[in-house]
Amino acid sequence: MTRDELLAFADTVKGFMPRNEGLALYDAARSHARPGTTWLEIGAWCGKSAVYLGCAAQERGAVLYSLDHHHGSEENQEGWEHFDASLVDPADGRLNTLPSWQRTIAIAQLESTVIGLVGPSVVVAAHFDQALDLLFIDGGHGHDVARADYEAWTPKVIGGGLLLIHDVFADPRDGGRPPYEIYLDALASGIFEEIGHEGSLRILRRS
Ligand code: SAH
Ligand code: MG
Repeated sequence: MTRDELLAFADTVKGFMPRNEGLALYDAARSHARPGTTWLEIGAWCGKSAVYLGCAAQERGAVLYSLDHHHGSEENQEGWEHFDASLVDPADGRLNTLPSWQRTIAIAQLESTVIGLVGPSVVVAAHFDQALDLLFIDGGHGHDVARADYEAWTPKVIGGGLLLIHDVFADPRDGGRPPYEIYLDALASGIFEEIGHEGSLRILRRS
């Protein structure tokens, strides 16, 4: 697919990435990440952000790992705000977004650019040694989960690499605290500086 076709297709994919933020994700990745590098996103869901990032990865000759256990976060479970009954696997009654994710990546013709990693984020991190030129954190929003993602994955971002964090809300009335807290930690660490933002997306670069 061409760039315009991919970005239009992203609109049709289920998920939690507003178009303006998806385009900012695409732009940041395309303008700052180095060619041929390895990228990773935590929180794949049905592949919406993976199409935006994958579009940039394809242009840059990079590979994006798209990581998720595919059983949804707390707020995606039955009885919660973001539950979608059509994503429940009738075989075991659990949420399963992997078939939708695979279909998204296949339709986008990104199967050699966006590679799925299925499992709990911190377990994968402990066995993942590859340096990252781009890390997008959009996984679980619980305090411990977000912090664990931050601690396990940000050390893998190399100098000059990008750290993107989603659902960062300075005002608690707009959303939960944990993504905002890890964003503050990244700034306080002194090794990441903010280079851009769009909606709840923050774009940081490692010095
Ligand atoms: N980026 C997606 C939205 C991600 S929603 C989009 O563009 O639409 C958050 C995702 O994080 C969910 O799919 C959930 O299954 C996943 N997740 C939450 N905690 C996780 C963990 N500890 N390990 C792996 N994936 C996790
Ligand atoms: Mg999000």
